[in-house]
Amino acid sequence: MAIKLDTTVETDWMETVRELASQRNAVILAHNYQLPEIQDVADYVGDSLGLSRIAAETDADEVIFCGVHFMAETAKILSPEKRVYIPDANAGCSLADTINADQLREWKAQHPDAVVVSYVNTTAEVKALTDVCCTSSNAADVVRSIAEDKEILFLPDQFLGAHVRRVTGRKNIHVWAGECHVHADISPSALVDTVRANEGAELYVHPECGCTTSALWMAESGEIPGDNTHILSTGGMLEEAKKTTSERVLVATEIGMLHQLRKANPTTEFMPVNPQAACPFMQMITPEKLLKCLQEGKDEVFVEKQTADAARTAVERMIAIGNPGSGE
Ligand code: SF4
Repeated sequence: MAIKLDTTVETDWMETVRELASQRNAVILAHNYQLPEIQDVADYVGDSLGLSRIAAETDADEVIFCGVHFMAETAKILSPEKRVYIPDANAGCSLADTINADQLREWKAQHPDAVVVSYVNTTAEVKALTDVCCTSSNAADVVRSIAEDKEILFLPDQFLGAHVRRVTGRKNIHVWAGECHVHADISPSALVDTVRANEGAELYVHPECGCTTSALWMAESGEIPGDNTHILSTGGMLEEAKKTTSERVLVATEIGMLHQLRKANPTTEFMPVNPQAACPFMQMITPEKLLKCLQEGKDEVFVEKQTADAARTAVERMIAIGNPGSGE
């Protein structure tokens, strides 16, 4: 649960957090969906892959990853020599939880010649059984890089899988029926209602959203101008927000994203398509837990070496293909 801090307490809290981070030589990373207080105290705010790259490049001894567990794991996989912490190791992800290593082994056994493409929202164990990871920015490029006659197992997100199938025209992709409950709840009907009530507004849609298909259909049918509809990762939304001159932008993703969009462009109004679309796992990282993490050095993230080595290969292949841009 989020806490509301009054100005004095907030200032004290921020100063204490910054002081402890400096004493530990720790860098604080915050995902775009984190609570505003956490975003504001962090050294860097961004998407999962961008933050993992910062974790790998930083001179800091410790990385405090304010996000969900698979993101902190990815940072650990890319920088095994650093100590990586998450303020609450129970901050999971409903999308990553839709497939585990045993389920993937079984799926692979049914399609022994298939190439496995996994979105970054997966556990380290699933990444270790993956041929190449992808982000929402380069998922189509990753699929295009695979020989036409090769079957593909795409996981875990069915909406991203459907988007990739549509843009590549590829038929031999099997898509795992996983979904993020937060993005799935941004429904086509909420999208249609919001777009109709805000004529002329631009629309940013994350490809994990349940409404992605409706957004594309509305753009293709002329119901909303195609030029005004953008299917974007969180990093892509931020880049687009910096450039837009629109009066209003409707945003179909987790609502924590609005904080960065509003900071990036204070003259445009950014409105959520579903104001209830808050990720409960992201919100488990509270100001108190971040403070405790810095005071007590908990929860440290570990990934077993063999798993990390195999997972790193899949993540590095992803980085080498197209423009990996960002993850969630
Ligand atoms: S918004 Fe969805 S995909 Fe993202 S961390 Fe939360 S549950 Fe996972």
